[in-house]
Amino acid sequence: MRSSSVAPPPGLVDCRRCPRLVDHREVIACRGRSGGPYWSRPVPWFGDPAARLLIVGLAPGMHGANATGRPFTGDYAGILLYRTLFEFGYSNRTESTARDDGLELYNCRITNAVKCLPPQNKPRPDEIRQCNRYLRNELAGLHDGSVIIGLGKIAHDAVLRALGLRLASYPFGHGHSHRLADGKLLLVDSYHCSRYNTQTRRLTGEMFTDIFRYVRERVEPRLTTASEASR
Ligand code: URA
Repeated sequence: MRSSSVAPPPGLVDCRRCPRLVDHREVIACRGRSGGPYWSRPVPWFGDPAARLLIVGLAPGMHGANATGRPFTGDYAGILLYRTLFEFGYSNRTESTARDDGLELYNCRITNAVKCLPPQNKPRPDEIRQCNRYLRNELAGLHDGSVIIGLGKIAHDAVLRALGLRLASYPFGHGHSHRLADGKLLLVDSYHCSRYNTQTRRLTGEMFTDIFRYVRERVEPRLTTASEASR
């Protein structure tokens, strides 16, 4: 199955649960930048609704996902992520530039732990908790045998929280993998592909590739739904 622009979860794009984030996104929407209005609302997940690979990032970047309305799109962090997805066969393009750029994901979906742009890129714990309801919903829709890549500790913790698990029982570490939900889901940790991490070489392209190599052994890019398998 191919990705499509399915409707975001009910209530998500109009969510106003976090007053600080609502104020911030409205200020940014007014300020904008040349090149058209900013999305400046909660950013819904993007990709294949039936995907067996779910990638969880932190939160939209100001002039990237917050501007375009698609996770990691226009953000520096998206350069390595989308290029790697293409290299491993999870997409039809090396870049994600806009919601109408024709990019399709195969058996892969991308979301964020926090759907709104946080000031200084730092969501507060109460905001992460408020937003966790949306991630919980997204995880509930995963098939048994799905793999989740948690990009950074905030994403990793948000996944555990959404599944009602003790954070201390599953320590974050780049390359760690954790069997969750009675073994039905596998969480794989990676350092976040942020500009800071890649420029300081805390995360290199090779390290990121190794994560995807491990994941692809467990989730094929193009085998998705039963209907596709029967075609
Ligand atoms: N853009 C996103 O959508 N998520 C991140 O975690 C970083 C940039």
